Amino acid sequence: MPYVQVALDVPLPALFDYAWPVLAAGESLVAEQIIGRRVIVPFGRRNVTGLALSVSADSAFDAARIKPLLAVLDDIAPLPPVWLALMRFCAGYYQHPPGAAALSALPQGLKSGKALDPLLTTRLAWQGATPAWPKREHVKAGMAARLQGGAIFGCELAGASPKALAYLAAWRAEGCVIEAAPPQYTASDAPALNPEQSAAVEQIAASINDRDGAGSYRAHLLHGVTGSGKTEVYLRATAATLERGRQVLMLVPEINLTPRLMQWVRMRFPASTIVALHSELNESERLHGWLLAHAGAAGIVLGTRLAVLASMPRLGLIVVDEEHDSSFKQQEGMRYSARDLAVFRAHQENLPIVLGSATPSLETFAHAESGRYARVRLKRRAVADSVLPRVRLIDLNTAPLEHGVSAAVREAVQQRLDAGEQSLVFLNRRGFAPVLSCAGCGWVSACTRCTSYLVLHRYGQANKLQSDGMLSSGHLVCHHCGFDTAVPERCPVCGNLDIRAYGQGTQRLESRLSEAFPQARILRIDRDSTARKGSAERLFAQAHGAEVDILVGTQMLAKGHDFKRLTLVAALNVDAALFSADFRAGERLFAQLMQVAGRAGRTEKPGEVLIQTRNGGHPLFQALMDHDYDRFARSLLKERQQAGLPPAGFQAMLRAEASTLTHALDFLHRAAAQGADAAGITMYDPVPMVVTRLMNAERAQLMVESVSRPALQAF
Ligand code: ADP
Ligand code: ZN
Ligand code: ZN
Repeated sequence: MPYVQVALDVPLPALFDYAWPVLAAGESLVAEQIIGRRVIVPFGRRNVTGLALSVSADSAFDAARIKPLLAVLDDIAPLPPVWLALMRFCAGYYQHPPGAAALSALPQGLKSGKALDPLLTTRLAWQGATPAWPKREHVKAGMAARLQGGAIFGCELAGASPKALAYLAAWRAEGCVIEAAPPQYTASDAPALNPEQSAAVEQIAASINDRDGAGSYRAHLLHGVTGSGKTEVYLRATAATLERGRQVLMLVPEINLTPRLMQWVRMRFPASTIVALHSELNESERLHGWLLAHAGAAGIVLGTRLAVLASMPRLGLIVVDEEHDSSFKQQEGMRYSARDLAVFRAHQENLPIVLGSATPSLETFAHAESGRYARVRLKRRAVADSVLPRVRLIDLNTAPLEHGVSAAVREAVQQRLDAGEQSLVFLNRRGFAPVLSCAGCGWVSACTRCTSYLVLHRYGQANKLQSDGMLSSGHLVCHHCGFDTAVPERCPVCGNLDIRAYGQGTQRLESRLSEAFPQARILRIDRDSTARKGSAERLFAQAHGAEVDILVGTQMLAKGHDFKRLTLVAALNVDAALFSADFRAGERLFAQLMQVAGRAGRTEKPGEVLIQTRNGGHPLFQALMDHDYDRFARSLLKERQQAGLPPAGFQAMLRAEASTLTHALDFLHRAAAQGADAAGITMYDPVPMVVTRLMNAERAQLMVESVSRPALQAF
């Protein structure tokens, strides 16, 4: 009797054997009907949903104790072998339990054990005239109107009412709703490409059209300066792929920071089904999007990192926008890099991938230098007469600061106000002030659960907060664990009333600027001001409109936005990253400054960028002034090669959490001892993490390095 290997969502590094399902006499299933399908199996005392990955004639377990598989769900097409292979790769490469890897990639709605209604992924349309519904039947009337407006999938209507699917089934039985044919692909008007864009599209199209239109693997680095029109290149490559009846996967770092891309895609491909997949969807939205991707019905899947795990049977092209962005890394559960997985996937399925950025990651840059990736450049801005902004350094060794802002920045902002133009003041630290301290005894606001300071936050209208003496409206918040408490009236240690806020975050900057420029309309955009659902869209809409003179914010403002009246960017307090223990800090700072500088002067008005620094001689700033990404990247790459750091070498971090630091370190010392004679591995000493305590857990880490990826994996 053959066996089925089933992936279950459990933290064990194993698959589970179950006996072939028992069917009615004379019936039996073949392997193809089982592999890649959800199955119901007994596990412990419960029945759970798993995923059948393979079948075998024998089992290493005692046959008498193997339980039978209870049911095979055939409501949707099986997950294709290439997807199952992707999951196996993830589990192996990212050292994650195979069952947990595969099942966490599936939406919750597929794991309930209930079969799904096939109407969800059926394209439907209304046939003939709709009846005149009485007023109380407004749900039906609304659904019918949408069905009459054009073909639509059942899942797009399922949210209309709990009975929506029942209505559809009844209408189908009556014949007034029919299954609609897939629409013919149509492209709407596109702007004429400039010569650089044409060359880029041509190069990418060559790998889309290869193998008689089936496409072939090629990774293209689309290295284009900010405002060079990379989006238009993605759209053309997308059109070429859709024309061939294949699907496109577009990955973006954060969905609410890139609303423009979704708008562009919808406008350009009105007849295609476009699905968004990201973590802000509710369960049914995520399920429906996933189903349309898996059914091959969605022509375009636009999503954040988790979308790289979507099942897309007709995938023909992958685009990764802002490929350098660190939000492509998943830092919890199964740790993975969506960018790296996207490249793996393109290779695995033999199709082209476009990695776009103005500031490519050093990993990608190194591949382009070595010729592994094809490089294509956009050196000029796409909008006529728009040029890259002039970058000027303000030397803080000589220029005094008033509340963190130099006279040069104040004057530049004033000039823009006089000219009716917009300024952006960039400070990558949210909150009011990074720490509160007692002038009497030196007490500082520290989180009791973490090794970190509590950050002072103030709520309410910025311009009503005039003096620093008034701390009562504030909260102390831990940015690591979220701990939130009222500001104490006096020092909790010595009772002193004189407790002060030190340093400056975006909230304090906002209130300083409103004091300095009382007439200006100031808008702050950071994680706090955009915390509520929908508020990011609203604030960005204001920023784009004519209502805002000065934008204040964190790196949220650096990404993807095209502010038409923005001609000045001022970056404050950037030096800390130059001396960080993280070897990627310099790379990230350079990318961030180049990106935020790229917001200025997007139209014909020239832009200016002012950077306050004490380290003006640093090569990072020199390269920035010349907009010379390559020079800086090459010098960083050389440093990394000399130090054996990524991308010249590979690293793995083993982390341990325990109630005491000794426990955590002990565990890591034992792990290190196990690998002591592993070939080709450099083992560092286990050390406490910088933020040692997090949510009352003590944390330590062991860094392992190797020039060989397989050696590292083996360890
Ligand atoms: P990037 O993503 O490279 O920073 P965008 O794709 O946002 O740049 O394009 C910048 C601006 O240039 C947008 O307003 C876009 O509409 C415009 N644009 C792009 N391509 C062209 C073109 N061929 N002709 C005219 N304008 C263009
Ligand atoms: Zn005190
Ligand atoms: Zn904390």
